[in-house]
Amino acid sequence: MKKIIVVGGGAGGLELATKLGRTYGRKKRAKITLVDRKASHLWKPLLHEVATGAMDEGIDAISYRAHAKNHSFEFHMGSLCDIDRDRKCIRLAELKDEDGELLVPERELEYDILVMAIGSTSNDFNTQGVSDNCIFLDSPEQAHLFRTEMNNEFLKLHTKSGEGSVDIAIVGGGATGVELSAELHNAVRELNIYGYSGLDSSKLNVTLIEAGERILPALPPRISSAAHNELMELGVNVKTSTMIVKAEEDGLITKEGEKISAGIMVWAAGIKAPDFLKEFGGLETNRINQLIVKDTLQTTRDDSIFVIGDCAACQQSDGSMVPPRAQAAHQMASLCFKNIVAMVSGLEMKSYVYKDHGSLVSLSRFSTVGSLMGNLTKGSMMIEGRLARIVYISLYRNHQIAIHGLFKTGLMMFVSRINRVLRPSLKLH
Ligand SMILES: Cc1cc2nc3c(=O)[nH]c(=O)nc-3n(C[C@H](O)[C@H](O)[C@H](O)COP(=O)(O)OP(=O)(O)OC[C@H]3O[C@@H](n4cnc5c(N)ncnc54)[C@H](O)[C@@H]3O)c2cc1C
Repeated sequence: MKKIIVVGGGAGGLELATKLGRTYGRKKRAKITLVDRKASHLWKPLLHEVATGAMDEGIDAISYRAHAKNHSFEFHMGSLCDIDRDRKCIRLAELKDEDGELLVPERELEYDILVMAIGSTSNDFNTQGVSDNCIFLDSPEQAHLFRTEMNNEFLKLHTKSGEGSVDIAIVGGGATGVELSAELHNAVRELNIYGYSGLDSSKLNVTLIEAGERILPALPPRISSAAHNELMELGVNVKTSTMIVKAEEDGLITKEGEKISAGIMVWAAGIKAPDFLKEFGGLETNRINQLIVKDTLQTTRDDSIFVIGDCAACQQSDGSMVPPRAQAAHQMASLCFKNIVAMVSGLEMKSYVYKDHGSLVSLSRFSTVGSLMGNLTKGSMMIEGRLARIVYISLYRNHQIAIHGLFKTGLMMFVSRINRVLRPSLKLH
C-alpha cells in the first residue's frame, strides 16, 4: 500500500489530506498521513480577527485528530525537522510539554509520496530589534499574545478614566496590516459597549507604516486608494514611503531617524518560508527559502516530493511568481490531488496555472473593498460594500466546504448565526 504524507495542515494541506483520505484512505488503497506541529487548524486569514477578539478560535478551530478520524487519514502531531531522500523518510522533532518534559521522542515516518505544505512566516529582513519588540501574526498563539497586550492597554486606560491613549504601530501595508487596523477600531467601539467607559476611537492611535508608495501594493491603485481613504476616515494614521530600520521597546525608528512611539508593535511586512528549508535534503530553494517547483508542483530535484501553498516557489508563464495567498493554496491543493491520483494510476500529470479571481480586503464592519477578476468581468472589476463582503466571506466558506462538505458547512453557518445571539460580539476573556 502506498504511503502518502502531507506535512502542514493549513489552508492547502488540510484540504489535500481530506481529499486524499476520502479517495484512498477510506478504501484502504493508500495510507494517508497528515503531520502538523499543532493539534488544531485555524484558517490563517482569520488571525487578525482572533487578534482583536472579533473571532473566537475556540469555536472555529478544527481538531486534526477528530477530522482525521472522520476522513480516513492518520494524524501525527510533530514538527518536521529533516528529510532523508535516499531512504524516503522524514524526521519529526521530539515533542515536549510546557515544562520541557519529553512527551514523544524524535520519530521517522516513511513515504512514497511527500507533500510539503508548511506555509510561511513573517519576514523581518533582519531588521534590528524587530524579533524582540514586535509581534508577528503567524499563529493563533501570536494572535493571543496581541489580544492580551491590547486588552491590558485598554484596561489600563479604562482604569485611568480614559486619560492618555493606546498607541499601536503596524508595519506592512498589505492585507494583514490594513485589515488589522480596521479591526482595532471596531474592537474599541465594541469594548465601549461592554462597559469600557472613556474608551473610544479618539483614544486609539493606530499608525500603519508602508515602505512603498501606497498601501496594498499588490492590488490595483484604485482599490488601495479606496482602502486608504476608509482608514483615514476611521482615524488610522497611514504613513507610506516610510522605511523602518529599527524597533525599540517603545517605538519604531524610520530611515530618516523619526521615532514612531507605540506601546504595541506588529510586524506584517513580507513573508518567507521557514528557515530550515534552506538546507532541506538538497532540494532547490529561492532567496526566501521557498522550495522551487515545476509546473506539476513537484520539486525540481525529486519527483516524489510535491510542494503547495506559501512554501512553494512556482513560476507562472509570464515569469512572475504565484503569490502567497489562500486562494493559491486552495488551487494548488486541488491540482496536487489530481496529480497524485495521476501518478498513482500511471497517467499524465497536469500543469498548475494560477487563476487570480481577485482580491478582497475586509475593513471590519466598516467596509470591504477589492477586485474581482474573470471572464464575466472582462478583466478586473472593483467591488465594494455588501457584495464585496459576501465574496470575501465566501473565500472562507469555500475552504470549509473543501474540508467538511456542503451539508456540514451549512450547519456551521447556522450555528454561527445562533452564536451571534448567544455570545458577545467580541471575545472578552
Ligand atoms: C493575518 C493574515 C491575513 C491573511 N489574509 C488573507 C486573505 O484575506 N486572503 C488570502 O488569499 N490570503 C490571506 N493570507 C495569506 C494566507 O493565510 C496564506 O497564503 C495561506 O494560509 C497559505 O496556506 P498554506 O497551506 O501554504 O500555509 P498555512 O495555512 O500557513 O499552513 C501551514 C501549516 O503548516 C504547519 N507547519 C509549519 N511548520 C511546520 C513544521 N515544521 N512541521 C509540521 N507542521 C508545520 C502550521 O502549523 C500550519 O498548520 C493572510 C495571512 C495572514 C497571516
